[in-house]
This record gives sequence, structure tokens and C-alpha cells, in this order.
Amino acid sequence: MSEGTPMLHRYDGYISALFAREDAVLTETRAEMERGGLPGINVSASEGKLLHVLALAVGARRVLEIGTLGGYSATWIARALPAEGKLVSLELDAHHADVARRNLEAAGLAAQVEIRVGAAGDTLSQMLAEGEPPFDMIFIDADKDGYVEYLRKSMPLLREGGLLLGDNTLPDAVLDEAATSGTKRYNAAVAETVELVSILVPVLRINGVDGLTISVKRTSA
Ligand code: SAH
Ligand code: MG
Repeated sequence: MSEGTPMLHRYDGYISALFAREDAVLTETRAEMERGGLPGINVSASEGKLLHVLALAVGARRVLEIGTLGGYSATWIARALPAEGKLVSLELDAHHADVARRNLEAAGLAAQVEIRVGAAGDTLSQMLAEGEPPFDMIFIDADKDGYVEYLRKSMPLLREGGLLLGDNTLPDAVLDEAATSGTKRYNAAVAETVELVSILVPVLRINGVDGLTISVKRTSA
């Protein structure tokens, strides 16, 4: 995959320059992540814009994110919300959550974003038990081995017509039939879920191709 990488990066540069230019807030968010020692495994600017467009398309007022890191994707998503909208973001690592809270505060988004610290599987179970209101969009982007569990627990939390998104779902492992990965299991489980209408969209990254699995929850009517 490395041979074509500089070329793919140029395509992404074209897209980002036209449609996903970072402002000072987003650039500073990444800088603050680096200063805090967080890994640079956030979505790209162009994928952030894709999340933003999808949230607008579904008229999202309530969004759930699983995997906050430093709040970079959260910023792209929360900026698509109306003033009274809400993004709930789940994060295991308390330090990541601290950096994200600082960044979202600086972005002027603190009132709209709530970060819940803990293992996402546990937090989701708690949300289900406590009757959390439904979400318009759910973005799964945490530990890949948890994806299938997050799918199962997200379904009852997603409104009909809502969007379920799974990140990093086109790893190199898809090219090797014998190779397994958490996101390959996720894609297979999504494909079998009759309540979902789905497609896997390739996404360009600095280090090659990856993907975002996009699903719409069917309406029962
Ligand atoms: N969505 C972010 C990137 C998330 S990286 C962005 O694009 O900006 C994945 C994050 O998931 C990391 O911060 C990691 O600490 C967190 N994570 C890992 N395992 C988790 C778990 N079991 N529950 C919740 N978060 C988890
Ligand atoms: Mg990701």
C-alpha cells in the first residue's frame, strides 16, 4: 500500500483545501493533543468534515461518540449541532478526557459536549439501563475489539432513520481473507443486521486507505 500513498495524500490534500480547511481552533486542538502526549490517531480534516456533513444531513440534535481522544472529531461533529444540541462522548482514558475537555472549552463547545469517562461497554450498559434518550447519530471510534459489542448496545440507543458510523473499517486485513480484525468482525455483523441499511465508504489517509462504515437504521413503518 505504501507505493501509492503519496498520491493518495495529494488527492486528500485537494479535498481538504476545498472543503475541510482547519481553522485556528482545530489546529490548536491537534497541537494541544501533541503537547499532552496523545497519539495522532484522530480522524483527518476531510473525514471530520464528512462527519459534520452527515450530522447536518440527518438533522442531528443528539449524537453519541465512542472514543473521544483529544476532542478533534468531537469538534467537527459538535459544530453541526444546534445551540441546544448535545454530543455525548465516551472515553476510557482520564487524561485523554482532560485534554479533550480543555480543547472543547477553548472551542466554545463545552456546553454542548459531555464526556463520560469509563469503559464504553460499561457506560453503554448503564445508558441502556437508565433509559438514555435516543441519538440521531452514533460514531464508533474506540478500541476495535469492542466494535461488535458497541454495535449491539448502540442499536437500541439509535432512533429510526438515525446514522450509525464505524471508523477504521477498511484495514489492510480486508485484503487477506485469513486475517481477522475487530473492524472486519464489525463489518460482517453490520452486514447481517437487518435493521441497518449499510455501505462501507473508503476514506483517504496520510498512510493509505481506510474506511467508514455508514449505516441507516430502518424505519419500521
Ligand atoms: N474519535 C477520536 C479518535 C479516538 S481514538 C478522533 O477522531 O478525534 C480511540 C480512543 O478510544 C482513545 O482515546 C482511547 O483511549 C479510547 N478507548 C480505548 N478503549 C476504550 C474503551 N474500552 N472505552 C472507551 N474508550 C476507549
Ligand atoms: Mg478512527
